[in-house]
Amino acid sequence: MMAEGVGEPPLHRSPNMAASSVPSTAPVPSPPKRFLVLFDFDETIVNESSDDAVVRAAPGQQLPDWLRHSYREGYYNEQMQRILAYMAEQGVTEDSIRSKVEQIPPTPGLLTLFQYLQSRKQDFELVVVSDANMYFIEAWLERAGARHLFHRIFTNPASFDAQGRLVLLPFHAHDCQRCPDNMCKQVIVRGYLARRQQERGGCPFQRVFYVGDGANDICPMLALGPRDTAFPRRHFPMHRLLQEMQDAGTEGLKVSVVPWASGQDVVDCLNRLEEER
Ligand SMILES: [Mg+2]
Ligand SMILES: [Zn+2]
Repeated sequence: MMAEGVGEPPLHRSPNMAASSVPSTAPVPSPPKRFLVLFDFDETIVNESSDDAVVRAAPGQQLPDWLRHSYREGYYNEQMQRILAYMAEQGVTEDSIRSKVEQIPPTPGLLTLFQYLQSRKQDFELVVVSDANMYFIEAWLERAGARHLFHRIFTNPASFDAQGRLVLLPFHAHDCQRCPDNMCKQVIVRGYLARRQQERGGCPFQRVFYVGDGANDICPMLALGPRDTAFPRRHFPMHRLLQEMQDAGTEGLKVSVVPWASGQDVVDCLNRLEEER
């Protein structure tokens, strides 16, 4: 831990200093960032499901039929646990799992979007909200040199145990009927927005952006307002489901919708909105 006070200017200036015309060198606290960008991970940041990519580390690069057929609807997290247990039994190492994750390509234009956000980091706070897991997401972002861009990562905890098995835990418990037991992204987004507003002295974000692709990116749309923007990946489930909700006039869906095919599409939209003060 950093020693307290190191590198900080003295708190009190002498009366002489205060009376002189020398400009103050005390750091001016930077204003809170205006915008929050929430990112899904699988098929939004990376161009594939990370779980599918990791399965290619299994012997023969695929899973046996009995394991593939053990999936029950709504219990995806449990299925992934069985897959990771099987891989550990087959002697698949942490190194080979990590390298499969690192090799997943980014979605088209995603790195352009990251560069844009990095160049405007005074305005944009970035967060990941994903039903993948912490090990995969941190491995990929570190490899891409992008881990530092993110203020927070909300995802299922994951770590290797003494037997070399990657063990997943549920992110939280919630009572949303729409979402799988281990994660409701709406609960996460509402909680984060409330907490950040409090931490920022009551100042909410001017706008919130959500970049996603999947069916589990729908629930958090109900936490967003008319100034906020949803970026559903074009022709992916989130896009189709949002269109259906808009057509049906779903109550509580207030967010603007801007489909994207490339990260550049998101940059173009952010660029327009950022210029408004
Ligand atoms: Mg996804
Ligand atoms: Zn939910």
